[in-house]
Amino acid sequence: MSDVDPVSYVKQEDTVIFKILGTAAAEGWPALGCICDACREAWRLGGKNVRRRAAYQLGETIHVDFGPDSYAQMLEFGLHYERLEHLLMTHSHADHLLPSDLAYRHRGYSVLPEDAMMTIHGNAHVEARIRSNDLPLEDCFARFEPVRLFKPVALSEGVTATAILADHAGEEEAVNWVLQREGRTFLQGNDTGWWPEPTWEFMATQTLDVALIECTYGPNPGGEHHLGAANVLEVRDELSKLGAITADTRVVVTHFSHNSGWLHEQYEEFFGPEGIEVAYDGMEIEF
Ligand SMILES: [Zn+2]
Ligand SMILES: [Zn+2]
Ligand SMILES: [Zn+2]
Repeated sequence: MSDVDPVSYVKQEDTVIFKILGTAAAEGWPALGCICDACREAWRLGGKNVRRRAAYQLGETIHVDFGPDSYAQMLEFGLHYERLEHLLMTHSHADHLLPSDLAYRHRGYSVLPEDAMMTIHGNAHVEARIRSNDLPLEDCFARFEPVRLFKPVALSEGVTATAILADHAGEEEAVNWVLQREGRTFLQGNDTGWWPEPTWEFMATQTLDVALIECTYGPNPGGEHHLGAANVLEVRDELSKLGAITADTRVVVTHFSHNSGWLHEQYEEFFGPEGIEVAYDGMEIEF
């Protein structure tokens, strides 16, 4: 099944791989049962136009979000979830969290190594959804750690993660993660909306090597909850003004909705001249 050697995720002595496991918005692309032109084209063209729900893997032990495609991503990319030590959750929306699949770590469903232990970092909504399983987290080889905004947390593999506040998901405190390792800084920026002021103030203290920014709406306007392509350029410009994005920063867009109507090629046409890369499922970034 998994002929992908997990060791390949540790690229060299001094870098780990940040792997983009899914680049779609909530419905996936093609979406379930959808007959829109963008979904029909994704079926026909395949390749980079087929997008799973958003999730990321950093090295062997750090994962971001655990949505309905986590199982498919495990199979596709040869991931070993029993080795996860940290699960960073952005928010509790169903395309980012499928609690029932986390519960299959429970004794009696699966056999995990006796010393397996995954710390789940999330907000109160994430915790409530996970605990609604009625399966004690400890028996799922997991523990919960509430997110504390703008407070760096030391993880594994030399990575430090800081939760920043997004404008997404209404009453819930949705976050994005700033990851640091060996003096390099990586922004995971999907499901952001236009950030609230404290986040911009925090970003003004950062120098990003990689900025992953969402582009859910493509040619359509966004702002609250999600961004469109024009908003991505505004975010890029604002981060540049604050000094967080420099000429050396790699900017990558992700989290695309089929309702945007743009296929991978059209995203590249728009963002190519801006020097911005368009993510696809399986894209790897050295970190
Ligand atoms: Zn999302
Ligand atoms: Zn569609
Ligand atoms: Zn969401």
